[in-house]
Formats: sequence, C-alpha cells, structure tokens
Amino acid sequence: MRRDGFSTFFLVILGLVGFGLIVWLNAHPDQSPSIIVIPTVQQPTEDANSWQTVLRVGFGSNSTPLPTVAIPTASFVPPTLANSSDTNLTPIAPLQLTVVAPAQPNSVVTATPAPTLSTQSTGLPVTAEVVTRPPAQWQPPALIPPISRDPFGRDHYVFARPVDSNANNEALLSYTFGTNGPDAETPWRIHTGIDMPNPIGQTVRAAGTGTVIWAGPGFQDSPSYGNVVEIQHDFGYKGQVLYTLYAHLSAVLVTQGQRINLGDPLGLVGNTGRVSGPHVHFEVRVGENRYRATYNPLLWMVPYVGRGVIAGRVVGPNGIGLQDQNVTVLDNRTGLVVQSTTSYVYLDNGSDVNSDPSWKENFVFGDIPVGRYQVITNIDGQRVVQKVDVSEGMTTFTELAPHQSSATETPTDSP
Ligand SMILES: [Zn+2]
Repeated sequence: MRRDGFSTFFLVILGLVGFGLIVWLNAHPDQSPSIIVIPTVQQPTEDANSWQTVLRVGFGSNSTPLPTVAIPTASFVPPTLANSSDTNLTPIAPLQLTVVAPAQPNSVVTATPAPTLSTQSTGLPVTAEVVTRPPAQWQPPALIPPISRDPFGRDHYVFARPVDSNANNEALLSYTFGTNGPDAETPWRIHTGIDMPNPIGQTVRAAGTGTVIWAGPGFQDSPSYGNVVEIQHDFGYKGQVLYTLYAHLSAVLVTQGQRINLGDPLGLVGNTGRVSGPHVHFEVRVGENRYRATYNPLLWMVPYVGRGVIAGRVVGPNGIGLQDQNVTVLDNRTGLVVQSTTSYVYLDNGSDVNSDPSWKENFVFGDIPVGRYQVITNIDGQRVVQKVDVSEGMTTFTELAPHQSSATETPTDSP
C-alpha cells in the first residue's frame, strides 16, 4: 500500500540520518569537556517522612474534627533565652482578687450525678510543695498543640498547659493522676487530675478553644473543687467530646456560655475547695462530663521542647494490671532517680480513673528530658527493669511484667 510504503521509506531515511549524525558527532568530539553544573539552590521538595507530614496524617485519623490551632509548617525554632539573665524584672503588683459570682445554670450544662467522695481523704498534700520556678529560670514554652511525633499517630497532645510557661506547669509528683497519695496507711481520694502548685493569683489559661460550660463554685454539687471553670472543646477525639476543668480558683474571669480561645485567661490560681495549698487542679474528661470520665492529662498536653512522655503498664504473672505499684525512672547514664509514681488505683466505687484509649497504661511520667532511662518496679519481690528511650514530643510505652524464669532482672542491652 502506498501509505505504508511511504512511511517505511521515511523511517529508513530518518534512521540513516540519525546514524550519520552519531558517527559525525563521535568523529568530532567537543573540544571542551562538558561540565555538569549542579544548581546550588535546589527547589524544596516535600519530604514524605518529615514529622509534620506524619503528624497531619496521624491526627487526621484521630481528631473529629481537627483542633482549630494550625500545625506549624516550619521547623520549630526555640525562642531566645533573653529573659534568662534579666535581673531587672518588674515586680508583679499585688493582685486584687475578686470572686466572680457563679453563672446561672443554663441549658448548656448537663445534669450529672454528684461525685462519690471518698471519706478516706484527709486533704491535698500541696502545702509543703509549692514549687514555683523563679522568673530567671524561664524555659521555652510547650510546642503548639496539636503535635505528636509518634509515627503511628497514637498520641493526642491536643491541649496546651493551663498556666504560663514561666509559672509551674508541671504536675505535682507526690499526687499524680490515678494515685491515692504517697502514704499507703492513709490513702487519699483517687486523683482524677493533676495539680500544678502556684502562688495565688497566677493566671490560669484555656488549654484549647471551646465554650465555658461552668464558671464558679458548686461544680456538680461538689464543694471539693472550689471555684471551677470547665470548657467543652470545639474538637473531639475519635468522635468523643473533650472537656477540660480548672479547679480551686481564687477568681473566675469568664462566664458560662463564653467562647474561649487557646490561652485565654479563665481565672486565677487559688485554694478554694478542699486543698491544703494553692494550686490549679487540671482535669481532662473524654466522652462524658462526669467524675468517672477522667483521663491522664499528661497524655493530652503537649510536652515541653526537648522532652517526652513515658506511659507504661505494670502487670502481674497473668497479665492483669497491678494497682498501687511503685514505679521509678532512673537516668540510665547517671543512675539518678528522675521521677517516681505509683500505678493507678481502681476501687470500683464510682471514683475511678481511666486508662488511655491509645495506651491502656496504668502509670505515666510526663516531661522527661530526651534520653535513655530505666523504668523499675518490684513485683512480688522480683525487681523488673525496662530500658526506655524517650524521644521529643511523643509517648514511649513500656510494660513491666514479672519473669517466668528465675532471673532477677530483665536482660538489657548495653547503653
Ligand atoms: Zn488535684
């Protein structure tokens, strides 16, 4: 056919010309060697493994919807420590404390049963432990929520600290969440939150955006909480509503129904209710606004820069969680004790706390500097040790279980 014949002829001519060109080029090599210039400035490329990308993916599957605070796209740059050497700090004027009258109950607040109060408690243990950080010891603020570097998206650090970064915003270690105090002989009420001891008048701030659903005394018919602000947040977790609660306030600065942004002042630290010293009691409630629905806030607040969280579970030979077990964290390098706590206590009397939906833990250590640690407990006379590497901005999980063999310590690798 004429058309095919023409095409074949054309291709043959093209091939001959090409072959001739190659022969000619090889016979006349370029005198100057060709130099491949690599551009010094390369176009930025999306790194599929960057932790911001991982985060977006992780939180996207857990949040309902995402918190309104945007995840920073740029790398975190620690602020300069300009305040560290500043000795000319202006003294804070004495605060005029005013207790705002409680807002009238309205339809926003759901009726809840009065919490079951244990009669074992003799009060809170804060008097001797008002640990406030001097202004000179300023440190970088917590990363902006939500954030987690856990590649599996198990973390849900959706809340900020409820007090300023130069206040004491670390949890009191002698009465951690889920514990009944340091003295087994005279146990306190199971702790449904964490305590941040601070002087009266320290500003208490919203841990996230939302709506004030309680502002004043008489919270859920419990005098123990003193003046309370409670926020129902605009975002949830896996379809469940989130609440945060701030108790023992000396002054309440918001009213019921008020819209609140992350960091807005809610009130001032005080010692109203059942306390033995001024502090803010901070609770996270998930799913329901009731006493029985509290979870460990250390697993919901963004860790400080350079720090992470250890969550763990002490179990018996049958794999069942053990209560009230002493657990200690040692710095693997120095051998010094970093923190100690006890595993959660469950009394099945209506005042119990909950293990986290992600971790199923029964103890947590918050604000642990990045590094390698030994987590130690004693189960029926057997010393159990696990080595744990703490990474910044994420939770590391460990399980402490007795050995079946006669070994007295878990085999551990060298540091
Ligand atoms: Zn408390």
